[in-house]
Amino acid sequence: MSNLYFTEEHNLFRESLREFLKKEVVPHINKWEETGYIERFIWKKFGEMGYFGLATPEAYGGLDLDLFYTIIFLEELQRINSGGFAAAMWAHAYLAMTHLNKEGNHEQKEKYLIPSALGDAIGCLCITEPFGGSDVAGMRTTAVRKGDTFVINGSKTFITNGVYSDYLVVAAKTNPELGNKGISIFVMDRDTDGISATKLDKLGWKASDTGEIAFDNVVIPATNLMGKENQGFPYIMQHFALERLIMGVNAHARAEYALEYAKQYMSERTAFGRTIDKFQALRHTYADCETQMEICKQFNYYVTKRLDMGEYVVKEATMSKLQSTKMADDVIYQCLQFLGGYGFMEEYPLARMARDSRLGPIGGGTSEILKEIIAKMVIDNKDYKPAT
Ligand SMILES: Cc1cc2nc3c(=O)[nH]c(=O)nc-3n(C[C@H](O)[C@H](O)[C@H](O)COP(=O)(O)OP(=O)(O)OC[C@H]3O[C@@H](n4cnc5c(N)ncnc54)[C@H](O)[C@@H]3O)c2cc1C
Repeated sequence: MSNLYFTEEHNLFRESLREFLKKEVVPHINKWEETGYIERFIWKKFGEMGYFGLATPEAYGGLDLDLFYTIIFLEELQRINSGGFAAAMWAHAYLAMTHLNKEGNHEQKEKYLIPSALGDAIGCLCITEPFGGSDVAGMRTTAVRKGDTFVINGSKTFITNGVYSDYLVVAAKTNPELGNKGISIFVMDRDTDGISATKLDKLGWKASDTGEIAFDNVVIPATNLMGKENQGFPYIMQHFALERLIMGVNAHARAEYALEYAKQYMSERTAFGRTIDKFQALRHTYADCETQMEICKQFNYYVTKRLDMGEYVVKEATMSKLQSTKMADDVIYQCLQFLGGYGFMEEYPLARMARDSRLGPIGGGTSEILKEIIAKMVIDNKDYKPAT
């Protein structure tokens, strides 16, 4: 492991997390993939181990560690080969909890962030809507102030942890006439009257409960507004940097795991009297894949380091996701090919990996939208300023 970025403490953390996942998670993964339901006990265990609070302040039940602990958390989750399980964990810890940590006030943090870090409450982040996800500013869900409450109406879709989570962080329009300047963020309990969810069936990420959520005259206290009213859009945009880097890191990690698996397989499988790792056509393809993966990995570590130092890395995080998710799809496609017919079989890990990987260039900003953002930054010199 590169000691440019990882200390002895990081490496020990990785070892113990890997052991934990092997013992506590791997035996259940196939069941959770089949049922689409991750049992509560494992959330609690993650909380007890401190895994949800790696980047959370100590005052709110976290460990307040540098971002490379988060990178290890993400990388190791990819190695157990359930994109859905990994997504459920990181969407809770880094989508819902990031908004709570950054925009939540003290009371909101006490009520939601502490139980989240402890694994007692699960969260989700609801931005995407049925009428369009890429066009965040075009969202139609409204939050209308009535006295000391807000009344929420509208719907969200494709929400990770959208069915079984305990609370929701929701973006809604407080001033629809202001477009992207009229969006605010709220936190609300799942059991509030008027909230209902439907589970969606999907190509991959099978263990994750992706939900469509309806808000029908949902009345919440005005104190559930997070941060400043009408500042939702810049909040969302600034956290996208972390989300996109996370998805970039996930991508290099699953590609690395696929390559390790394929290398082992190729060293054991024989054809024409030799192991298939002796065929030059496969060796060169493998070398290409390894090269692409390593370049993405090193770039992702560099972006992580800069983000950890407090730099505003929107462009680089966007590039990370764009390039790494493409690389992972290509590498995993090729690794499946290395396994021949076995690659197509559910008994072998590449089938699930290929399905799960396909979400990379879609979720958290499609590759087309990422290219738009990069083009605006590098050609038009647009600056995506952080919220003030
Ligand atoms: C499994 C899963 C989990 C998800 N989890 C969450 C979650 O937890 N929370 C959440 O809020 N969202 C979540 N999403 C939603 C995800 O972020 C959106 O699906 C994504 O942003 C794309 O939005 P869309 O699906 O509405 O596609 P659309 O916006 O309808 O796009 C359709 C196509 O048009 C292209 N397109 C759109 N606009 C442009 C343009 N200007 N230029 C060029 N091409 C364009 C897109 O790239 C895409 O190819 C999840 C999605 C999935 C599938």
